[in-house]
Amino acid sequence: MPVVYLPEEMDRKRLYAELLEAAKQLREKYDIRFSRDAKDEVEALYAILKALNELDVSPAKPKRSKRRSSKKKPRAGVERTLLFVKPDGVKRGLIGDVIRRIERAGLKIIGLKMVWLGEDWAKKHYPDELAPKIGAKAKKAFLEQGKEFPWTEEEYGRAVLEALRRYVTSAPIVAMVIQGPRAISKVRAIVGDTAPSRAAPGTIRGDFSCDDYEFANEQTRAIMNVVHASDSEGAEHEIAELFSEDELYPEYTTVYEELVGEF
Ligand code: GDP
Ligand code: MG
Repeated sequence: MPVVYLPEEMDRKRLYAELLEAAKQLREKYDIRFSRDAKDEVEALYAILKALNELDVSPAKPKRSKRRSSKKKPRAGVERTLLFVKPDGVKRGLIGDVIRRIERAGLKIIGLKMVWLGEDWAKKHYPDELAPKIGAKAKKAFLEQGKEFPWTEEEYGRAVLEALRRYVTSAPIVAMVIQGPRAISKVRAIVGDTAPSRAAPGTIRGDFSCDDYEFANEQTRAIMNVVHASDSEGAEHEIAELFSEDELYPEYTTVYEELVGEF
């Protein structure tokens, strides 16, 4: 029930005039008709409150049609990317820490949700075609550490993908769409190296995990590295897989944008 505070010593004539003015505005705005003239200001106030109560005058929700289409291309140099807190991050209570790091960098979160991914999604998102790429990356890391890599990149990659699908479907994830200048590479930098054992301190993976290739492989599981972040090839596609355009809100302005310019 809304409470209306009236200044104690308010001039009654002025109050009445203001109430009548408010009533007039309500009448114009909402097409209200008051059945008879109010006898005094209390009755006028009562009529107005009653009318307000009957109307839904809670703050208007932005009308879809009035929203700037989220399909509109952002400014030059401004990118969108997808980041999600993986099941290990969700289970460890790191959702807030991850979001905080994105926010404090000045990036703008334009979509956010928790989802429990299914098998189908995992197969589509992590298709076998990614196997050579994942294998090549792991091979490079192994060789850099002076370790042997006795597999083909393809077979190694396939085993990782299988483990990865099990991992991302094992508990809910928290996904967000992030917008900002060079957001894709910026978020990858905030996230850090794929293997947390190699990720720099100050990055999400470096600060919240120390998992490693061999350690994960030995246990036939994916490296637990707290978050996923799109690369430049995958960003738009990955966003579309988890968010409809209606679920994205790029049209609000952050305090940071007020300083550096809107993105
Ligand atoms: P990201 O983009 O840094 O996440 O790395 P990738 O796209 O190359 O790999 C996807 C995910 O698969 C990684 O985040 C890890 O969870 C997992 N992963 C990648 N490479 C390996 C690996 O060599 N071994 C294991 N066990 N997991 C891996
Ligand atoms: Mg990747």
